[in-house]
Amino acid sequence: MAIAKRTDLGAPAPFEYAPAPEATDHVTIAPKYDLFIGGRFVRAHSRRRFPTVNPATEEVLSEVAEADEADVDRAVTAAGDAFRTWSGLPAARRARYVFRLSRLIQERARELAVVETMDGGKPIKESRDVDVPLAAAHFFYYAGWADKLEWAFPNRRPRPLGVAGQVIPWNFPLLMLAWKVAPALAAGNTVVLKPAETTPLTAMLFADICQQAELPPGVVNIVTGAGATGALVTGHPAVRKVAFTGSTEVGKLIQRQVAGTGKRLTLELGGKAANVVFDDAPLDQAVEGIVNGIYFNQGHVCCAGSRLLVQESIVGPLLEKLKQRLGTLRLGDPLDKNTDVGAINSPQQLRKIEGLVNSGVEEGAELFQPACRLPERGYWFPPTLFTNVAQSSRIAREEIFGPVLSVLTFRTPDEAVEKANNTPYGLAAGVWTEKGSRILWMSERMRAGVVWANTYNRFDPTSPFGGYKESGFGREGGLQGLLPYVELAR
Ligand code: NDP
Repeated sequence: MAIAKRTDLGAPAPFEYAPAPEATDHVTIAPKYDLFIGGRFVRAHSRRRFPTVNPATEEVLSEVAEADEADVDRAVTAAGDAFRTWSGLPAARRARYVFRLSRLIQERARELAVVETMDGGKPIKESRDVDVPLAAAHFFYYAGWADKLEWAFPNRRPRPLGVAGQVIPWNFPLLMLAWKVAPALAAGNTVVLKPAETTPLTAMLFADICQQAELPPGVVNIVTGAGATGALVTGHPAVRKVAFTGSTEVGKLIQRQVAGTGKRLTLELGGKAANVVFDDAPLDQAVEGIVNGIYFNQGHVCCAGSRLLVQESIVGPLLEKLKQRLGTLRLGDPLDKNTDVGAINSPQQLRKIEGLVNSGVEEGAELFQPACRLPERGYWFPPTLFTNVAQSSRIAREEIFGPVLSVLTFRTPDEAVEKANNTPYGLAAGVWTEKGSRILWMSERMRAGVVWANTYNRFDPTSPFGGYKESGFGREGGLQGLLPYVELAR
């Protein structure tokens, strides 16, 4: 897919790259996948299936089972039965199983990366270098905690809760699975997980990995389906703990659903993060951070730095550099190792992005898109930036979840804080400045679960991640990520 690059911005002409497609011949995607319940693949009671599609080609990759109420009940029962033995195992043995899952993810990394890219549309260099290694690292990290829970919570007796019902989104399918499953198992719980409708395939490979690891049957159960299946998982009366990552709208529904049931709940929801650049920031480094902050994974990132706040004195030079950089991004085949911007995950998401971008134009913001030819098949949206954005504009307030950046300006640090916090969300933020004292001053004042300084979108299993306000509550990652999965007795 040849992409014509814009060269009229005063930038040097970008390099031309020969195609460098990742091989797919080492990957087998089954034409059909069943549910993974009690350690086996079983046919859905519903007998219904739905297709999962490669968003870069619109090709149907596989037909996946759709779990109904009876299926979810079977999965929760299997998890409940397994809980008795799993929670009673010596902790060091549980640790060994979790460690084995990590090693198997590493061994099968190439296969997992290719399937993740085919099913979700993200560039192979991201699934290969970010999603899969981080997923393995999460299992590795929590395997380390499994037999040290008494040290994690000194003078308390941590006990597992029971069956965890976990629902995950389509933007980081395997990584979100790891964030959910690893701490739950390490703490002695069993799980029923529902992957997103558009990206179930790496969860199916993970089910295979559970078999390969000889994980006791029922410790991990995977039920595929749409939102209705998710609601059956989170609503099941025998589920003791609900963990959800997805939209704020569905998060609120789940919060209502579990209210009064005594179930533990963590919600990791949407965001509209501010990436704040001061006039003393190293501009070239900041430009890379801004690009990584919003165009990584086509902007399908809950903590995406989708609002750029630039100090007024440097807005001209910064935008010039940023626009030049956008002209060098390579959009196209996600399986090509040189691709920077892959496919939009689904036609629904593409429509949502297009609708919000149109609203930005209608509201008077100025649109910039580098010239780039979009492939004929599949779902695509070019990297986009808006200037002249009003604080009240929809593109400055609503989560677009696409490769769209809104640029706003500020004059003083106080104004930057005021604008950064002027959102119902509070998941992440970025600060670019050479002054350490200013980084601390800003991070104390910005209402965001994570504040990155002179970098963006950095993840590590030892760091807790989670939101304030409508971005949800509870933390995943780090020691804090164990807390939602244990009861602390004295
Ligand atoms: P959803 O919140 O609808 O989906 C997240 C997960 O929840 C999916 O597995 C989904 O199933 C499931 N689900 C849907 N409805 C329910 C329900 N009532 N009870 C339990 N589970 C349910 O996100 P969408 O995929 O619809 O994306 C919509 C918007 O959400 C995006 O545009 C984006 O703004 C935001 N989003 C934010 C994410 C984040 O990480 N914060 C992640 C994903 C989306 P199914 O896949 O079948 O719909």
